[in-house]
Amino acid sequence: MRKPLVAANWKMNKAIKETLDFIHSFLQLVEDSGDVDIVIAPPFTSLADAFRLLRATNIKLSAQDVFYEDKGAFTGEISPVMLTDAGCSFVIIGHSERRQYFLETDEIVNRKIDAARRNGLEVILCIGESLMEREDNKTFEVLDRQLRDSLKDTAIDGITIAYEPIWAIGTGKTATPEQANEAHTFIRGWVKRKYEESADKMRILYGGSVTPDNIESLLAEPDIDGALVGGASLKPEDFAKIVKSAKRRI
Ligand code: PEP
Repeated sequence: MRKPLVAANWKMNKAIKETLDFIHSFLQLVEDSGDVDIVIAPPFTSLADAFRLLRATNIKLSAQDVFYEDKGAFTGEISPVMLTDAGCSFVIIGHSERRQYFLETDEIVNRKIDAARRNGLEVILCIGESLMEREDNKTFEVLDRQLRDSLKDTAIDGITIAYEPIWAIGTGKTATPEQANEAHTFIRGWVKRKYEESADKMRILYGGSVTPDNIESLLAEPDIDGALVGGASLKPEDFAKIVKSAKRRI
């Protein structure tokens, strides 16, 4: 049985004080996180302060992105070395907003994964199709391409995949549990063909308008091992409810 993982992606929200206030409240609501892996991804500017509060807990700190070189003349970028220094043990790579607004390709995603793993960071790799691709029945073709190119020459350990259909992110439209599970089963089958038995251990998260109200039905599906949560992770009460649902699933 795979241990559920629930990750909060705050995107470009919360300054340092808001980050610390959230963590103080959240820790009171979720006293024992033992049965569920919890990951919180604040903006870069809050990472080091967040880590001061999280280091005594089981909650892991994540960045929302990383650059693929360790250091050098890359103005504005943050390296994996800097992330581990700030206390991160995870990084989200290939989020659809990075792909859409910052033109990240699967090749860039692949280089970022390589740099993150080389520096000991666990990766949450985001993949997913657009509405047009789904309507054109291209979902599996898109997932196949994203998996093949993002994971080129890459080992699978330390990687969690988040299936995030773009049409469900921040829109309030969740994939049905059956739609999500169908994509997860495809992803696990793909990983099994390439990496064999590792596929059974690898966690696949669902992301896209997850809330305290829909998390239980998503987690009831056999291939959904947790969630990557955007909007509903900004309030400690909502995120704590999602974590508690994941605990009940065990
Ligand atoms: C996300 O940002 O990864 C996400 C799934 O956002 P939301 O939950 O707001 O749809």
